[in-house]
Amino acid sequence: MIRSLLIANRGEIARRIIRTARKMGIRTIAVHSDVDATMPFVREADDAVCIGPAPARESYLVQAKILDAARATGAEAIHPGYGFLSENAEFAEAVEAAGLVWVGAPPHSIRAMGLKDAAKKLMVAAGVPVTPGYMGEDQDPAHLKAEADAIGYPVLIKAVAGGGGKGMRKVDRPEDFADALLSCQREAASSFGDNRVLIEKYILGPRHIEVQVFGDRHGNVVHLFERDCSLQRRHQKVIEEAPAPGMDAATRAAVCDAAVKAAKAVHYVGAGTIEFIADASEGLRADRIWFMEMNTRLQVEHPVTEAITGQDLVEWQLRVASGEPLPKRQDQLSINGWAMEARLYAENPSNGFLPSTGPLTRLRLPRGIRVDSGVEEGGEVSPYYDPMIAKLIVAAPSRTAAAAKLASAAGKVEVWPVRTNAAFLARAAADPDFVAGHVDTGFIERHADRLVPAAEPSAPVLQAAARALLPADAADAWGALAGFRANAAPETRVAVEVAGHGHLVALDAGATGGKLRDVAGETLLFLGGEAWPVESPRADHAGGGGGVSDGALLAPMPGKVIAVEVAEGDTVTRGQKLLVLEAMKMEQAMLAPFDGVVAELKASVGGQVSEGAVLVRVEKVED
Ligand code: ADP
Repeated sequence: MIRSLLIANRGEIARRIIRTARKMGIRTIAVHSDVDATMPFVREADDAVCIGPAPARESYLVQAKILDAARATGAEAIHPGYGFLSENAEFAEAVEAAGLVWVGAPPHSIRAMGLKDAAKKLMVAAGVPVTPGYMGEDQDPAHLKAEADAIGYPVLIKAVAGGGGKGMRKVDRPEDFADALLSCQREAASSFGDNRVLIEKYILGPRHIEVQVFGDRHGNVVHLFERDCSLQRRHQKVIEEAPAPGMDAATRAAVCDAAVKAAKAVHYVGAGTIEFIADASEGLRADRIWFMEMNTRLQVEHPVTEAITGQDLVEWQLRVASGEPLPKRQDQLSINGWAMEARLYAENPSNGFLPSTGPLTRLRLPRGIRVDSGVEEGGEVSPYYDPMIAKLIVAAPSRTAAAAKLASAAGKVEVWPVRTNAAFLARAAADPDFVAGHVDTGFIERHADRLVPAAEPSAPVLQAAARALLPADAADAWGALAGFRANAAPETRVAVEVAGHGHLVALDAGATGGKLRDVAGETLLFLGGEAWPVESPRADHAGGGGGVSDGALLAPMPGKVIAVEVAEGDTVTRGQKLLVLEAMKMEQAMLAPFDGVVAELKASVGGQVSEGAVLVRVEKVED
């Protein structure tokens, strides 16, 4: 068994590998860029070496620097994690040439599966069903078009060197083919340095099914069952689960056998994933599941397989790399329960899922489930790397229970000021169609309306904000409320500012509360994975002490003044109606908060007022 391991990666996967290595008594060495110096993975490793500036091509992707670090620290082995150099055959060779153990796929397997067209041809030869399409050498546009016409539309143009969801174009009509081909080739050339493409039949309502495989140096290959990664946004996985919903034993046997066949065809060693695409329009059927590609590394979503099989896949990797046989035979592996993983990203779903980087002033992740995260509160999400904050992994006896657990976990996430997709994940996991197992790769796009939280606070958010603010300072609050309580309405109205905008909220008896937190001087409401800055509207424009103590009444939201019943200088008594505002199609009477004199009157009948505007100010009469 190896005794020391350098991890050529960062963040959550580096921590994940350290965890298992430590358990096995293996010394760990982290390599990191400048900006990562204070990250948890660097601290948690037994040793750490800085290998350069933030951009990955100047640090995490520089093979010589990593090999130097291994030499300097006496590392015996290198684990590449996923991404970066994990599927780089030259690096794997350089590691072995340096006399180190490569905890990854053999270079020949990486090469054999590296290009989508070559891999598909190899699979055809091995008797593995592949997606119908064209994967030939002739890249002449007219020829490609003729092939697409023969396959029948819609088709998918794919860069043969593509990966990570890039370099793909769906073409619905023959007349769109030429433009789509050009744009795909452009992207392929710039992202992968290879503009060759293949063409596939576009599978409608497709599901992404993948099989975890493992090989050792003694010729054994087993599978650890399937995962379903159909919940994708723009071809990127969002929620993964194992096993796949609706998979019967016969279909499972067929697809898992095909995966083992595929791994054997490339003499595979270590952890690998065979990705399939399934036409599930009539349920999962063995004759409608086709090989897509092989990922010759550990996958981001490996924890769901660990959860249902009870195996530690990183431990398997380290044992296999050390020359041991696979820890289990096929007949010793079985599925137990259901697992789901959600990828918590630093991005803003309400704003087109734009990445959101910056400090993690608050970062609270759910307890009682497995959370694989690379960052911690007080750290930050750097613009240089993948914006994943954490993976939330749940396991339960049934799929329904797992989905409920995932929804609840995502809803408990508290992150600020970085924006996250937590609320989106919570909604997806709780969506009735998802819970029913009606998933395919178009699910998110199709249900975007109900999955993506609105940019404006929703009614439940306003309710929770009002409820949370109400008891805080009851005496003053009730004073302030007096001005905002409609005369005739028996219910309680609370004026709140959410995200800097005023709202008047009629409290709903059934409203459920979120959590109110003080984060670096801001009051934040966390509800269902959403985060909103909230406060009670204040009258500090007048220069007074704020609240209602200086007697200023503010418009709780934009509206129109429909009656003014006092004039400047009038003496008023507490509770007396001063003016009436029409807002949200309701009439709101503004009442005097205490006995006094109308010191200032800024409203006139028919006038439009913006939220937060001072309408009238009453001064206490000193006696
Ligand atoms: P990458 O290597 O970039 O990840 P893949 O070939 O694995 O690309 O495809 C990524 C995703 O694109 C799949 O998970 C699936 O959602 C979709 N996809 C790929 N091929 C097809 C196809 N023939 N028909 C429909 N969707 C497809």
